[in-house]
Amino acid sequence: MRRPFVAANWKMNGDLASNANLAQAFAAGIDTSKVDAAVFAPHVYLSALSEQLKGSKISVGAQTANTAASGAFTGETSLSMIKEVGCTHVLTGHSERRVMNGETDEVVAEKTATALEAGITPVFCIGETLEERESGNMEAVVARQINAVIDRVGVEAFANIIVAYEPVWAIGTGVTASAEQAQEAHAFIRQLFAQKNADVAEKLIILYGGSMKAANAKELIGQPDIDGGLVGGASMIAEEFVAICAAAV
Ligand code: 13P
Repeated sequence: MRRPFVAANWKMNGDLASNANLAQAFAAGIDTSKVDAAVFAPHVYLSALSEQLKGSKISVGAQTANTAASGAFTGETSLSMIKEVGCTHVLTGHSERRVMNGETDEVVAEKTATALEAGITPVFCIGETLEERESGNMEAVVARQINAVIDRVGVEAFANIIVAYEPVWAIGTGVTASAEQAQEAHAFIRQLFAQKNADVAEKLIILYGGSMKAANAKELIGQPDIDGGLVGGASMIAEEFVAICAAAV
C-alpha cells in the first residue's frame, strides 16, 4: 500500500509572517499519521520554516538546488546548504524551471542524481504542454522526460524518488485535468516503470499537480494510480491545503 503524499509548492510567494501563519495551521491541521506532507518554500525562508515546523512531521523542501558542491556560482544554492537548514526534499524538473530557466532533461537528470547522492529526496516533475497533448504526444513527452532520469540514475534509484505528473496546461490555469485524464497519464507512467522493474513501479509515489484544490482533491487522489498532490495556488490557503491533505487519506 502506498502512503499518500501531499506537498505545497509556494513558488515565489509569501513572506515571513504569512509563512509562519501557514506553517502553524498546517502543523495543527494535518494528520501526519495518515499522510506525508511537505512544504517547498523559497530559499530565503527555508531556515525559518524548518524552525516553525519543528515538532511536526511535515517535511521542508527547496524548489531547486545547484548540482555543484560549492564554488563560484553567484546566486546559487547547494544541496548541502538546503540540507543544513532542514530540507529533506527538493523539486527537480518543475515545468516553470524547464521553461524559464532553460532546464533541459539532462540538467534535470543531473539535479535528480546529485540530490540522491546528497541524501535529499527529489520530487521529480514531468508533464506535457497543451500543444503536446493536443498533437497526441503526451505519452512520448513524459516517457522522454522519465527516461532521461532513468538513464542517469537507473530505475532502482526510483525507490527514493517521488514523481509528480503536472500537465503544464493545468498549472495555475484553474483548468484541472479530469480524474480520467490524470489517471490515464499516471497509469501510463506506472506501466513505463513496470516494464523495467515491477517492484519499483508498485511502490512509486506519483503525485498529480495542476489546479488541485479541496473541491477536486478527493476525486483525483482517489484514482488508483494517483498517490497524492503537488499543490501550488491552493497551498497558500491554510484551509484548502489542510483539506487536500485530509482528502488524500
Ligand atoms: P497550481 O496548483 O497553482 O496549478 O500549481 C501546480 C504546481 O505547479 C505545483 O508545483
